[in-house]
Amino acid sequence: MDRELLLIIEDEEAIAEFVRLNLERAGFRVVCAASGEEGLALVRRETPALIVLDLRLPGMDGLEVCRHLRRFHPEIAVVMLTARGQALDRVRGLELGADDYVTKPFDPRELVARVQAVLRRTRPEREAAREERRFGRLHLDLRRRRVRKDGRTVELTPREFELLAFLAGRPGRVFSRDELLDAVWGPDYEGDPKTVDVHIHRLREKLEDDPARPVHLQTAWGVGYYLDPGGEEGGPGSRRF
Ligand code: CA
Repeated sequence: MDRELLLIIEDEEAIAEFVRLNLERAGFRVVCAASGEEGLALVRRETPALIVLDLRLPGMDGLEVCRHLRRFHPEIAVVMLTARGQALDRVRGLELGADDYVTKPFDPRELVARVQAVLRRTRPEREAAREERRFGRLHLDLRRRRVRKDGRTVELTPREFELLAFLAGRPGRVFSRDELLDAVWGPDYEGDPKTVDVHIHRLREKLEDDPARPVHLQTAWGVGYYLDPGGEEGGPGSRRF
């Protein structure tokens, strides 16, 4: 099995380094980010299995990062680092969907044990997220390349399926037409970029109750398109695909 990739988001370098060393010693690959913004940028590129997230960060704080992760990357596990006296933050973090927490100062063995336990517990969901995606009443079976709505198969062309699967792989992230052309049609495609709009239009016709007021296949005006997983998945307990 590949060594799992973990991300540490912690602004205090000494602590980040200490955590990194201990997790690497336990066999993980580790990347670090010193702010929430930097961490989320890394998440979009690397998709770690788990994030060790400090709650007190400059700029975007850990709770905001947690909220964002749960909405847009529900398959990534989160272990929070909190300080003594931050009981309220801890409660908020768990409410927002963090999987566990460790209180500073901590024994590195305890942190490693928690990380391993959370990874074990969430592995089936992470694997499922690679094979299927659910949002609202839609179910994408990535292996069989099939989409169902309310349990009924919806016929998509291969390109429509690829476009939907690509957007669903990064729910909430806005992609420009050019990015979608590159990713789905390939960098050599030389046709009309408007083909993206045509495909989005067709997907809406096939998948949305009201294609004129889509719930999932959203337009970011002047920027591009994104897939909104829908509101229900945001709450604790129901957040994972
Ligand atoms: Ca901090």
